[in-house]
Amino acid sequence: MHQKNLWQETSKEKITFSNLKKSITTDLVIIGGGFTGCSAALSAAKNGLSVTLIDQKIGYGGSGRNVGLVNAGLWMPPEKVESILGLDAGVKLNKALVTAPDLVFSLIDDYEINCSANRSGTLHCAHSEKGLEDIKLRFKQLSERGAELELLDKQQTQQRIGSSKFFGSLFNKKAGIINPLDYCLGLARAAKSYGVNIYESTIATDIQSINNDWLVKTAESTIKAKMLLIATNAYQKPIEGLNPSKYTSVQYFQVATKALPLDLVKSVLPNGEGCWDTASVMSSFRLDADNRLIIGGIGNLGHSASKIHTNWARRKIESLFPHIKNIDIEFSWHGRIAMTGDHIPKILRLGSNAYSVFGYSGRGIGPGTYFGKAVSECLISGDETSLPVDPLDYYQEPFSKIKAGFIEFGATASHLL
Ligand SMILES: Cc1cc2nc3c(=O)[nH]c(=O)nc-3n(C[C@H](O)[C@H](O)[C@H](O)COP(=O)(O)OP(=O)(O)OC[C@H]3O[C@@H](n4cnc5c(N)ncnc54)[C@H](O)[C@@H]3O)c2cc1C
Repeated sequence: MHQKNLWQETSKEKITFSNLKKSITTDLVIIGGGFTGCSAALSAAKNGLSVTLIDQKIGYGGSGRNVGLVNAGLWMPPEKVESILGLDAGVKLNKALVTAPDLVFSLIDDYEINCSANRSGTLHCAHSEKGLEDIKLRFKQLSERGAELELLDKQQTQQRIGSSKFFGSLFNKKAGIINPLDYCLGLARAAKSYGVNIYESTIATDIQSINNDWLVKTAESTIKAKMLLIATNAYQKPIEGLNPSKYTSVQYFQVATKALPLDLVKSVLPNGEGCWDTASVMSSFRLDADNRLIIGGIGNLGHSASKIHTNWARRKIESLFPHIKNIDIEFSWHGRIAMTGDHIPKILRLGSNAYSVFGYSGRGIGPGTYFGKAVSECLISGDETSLPVDPLDYYQEPFSKIKAGFIEFGATASHLL
């Protein structure tokens, strides 16, 4: 099947940028135009900095390929975050990210971002009895920390989804779904309206620090700046003078059907929640604004056995919704997730007034928006205590290639069965 990214093909935020052909000076240079880079650019420009953001294409990375589930927190239950980081740091990160959907949806409202936002909530669906225990635990831990959630039983879950496959679900009514590429492009448009210079087809090839300035070279220009943010997450192209970010690259793919016929629309996610399940080889499903059903799972569509993944997706549709028979698949695409060993995003200090942010481990819409804003505020104030996690001087991710191969092999084997 020819791969086509639904979000690109149906994008409503029409904005493009020229490439940079001259040398310039700016306060802050940002490399990478995903949620992190665009959110940082918007926030920095609103706070009075002159900002230059470069990328090959805005939303080229994970931000233009993802599922579009705008969720609170990280993938892990909050107690796990507190046990990894220690109580104080864990509480601080959990507190910051519980409000991340509010930040995302308020930016969408403020800048009238045309991203088909639907704040009908998300459902974390228990695929087994064990999965049910998992969501009960999350319900308890998250509710104790102030989140407004509902634990739905099997029947209530069936009513919301239109599928009898789940043992129950955790409903977060403050979460929602978006077209992620349009959200990213809308952030870039908003940043531009505050004077951010955004350039596409402009790739950083070399970085140097000279006399307290950062010099970023591209094929046709040099950008001189006092402050630097690397926001390239899982899509970093090699840059001379910069150690590559360390993470395990996990592939996630999605397929989208043709629009469901009107008689089926009422019986499949009638309220439009975004869903994902508790399985260790996780899957996700949601509708888009035109009622296409989108199914996602761990897996790479770029290798010879990738048909296994798309065939699994077809079977998954029929297993979840047996009344949908032989529906055509219109789109399929995949993207790279930057997974860290402890699944906590990292902020790396690169030197004077410079950070790299990466490793959202599959939860990057809220966190990327939040971290981008927080890092830009820290660059202005110099106050690192305002960051959601303590910055590191060094980060290593051992055996990342082996782990990535193991995850892809496991997902392929699971999708074959
Ligand atoms: C398939 C998939 C599904 C996902 N689903 C969800 C979800 O439902 N909900 C959720 O919250 N998160 C989800 N995520 C995670 C989320 O998409 C990412 O965490 C988020 O997009 C990271 O944003 P970012 O801005 O840090 O990086 P990216 O969006 O990856 O942007 C990095 C940018 O840097 C640019 N770049 C790299 N090198 C250079 C260079 N040398 N010069 C110039 N530019 C460069 C790239 O071109 C790219 O555009 C998903 C991720 C994937 C891949």
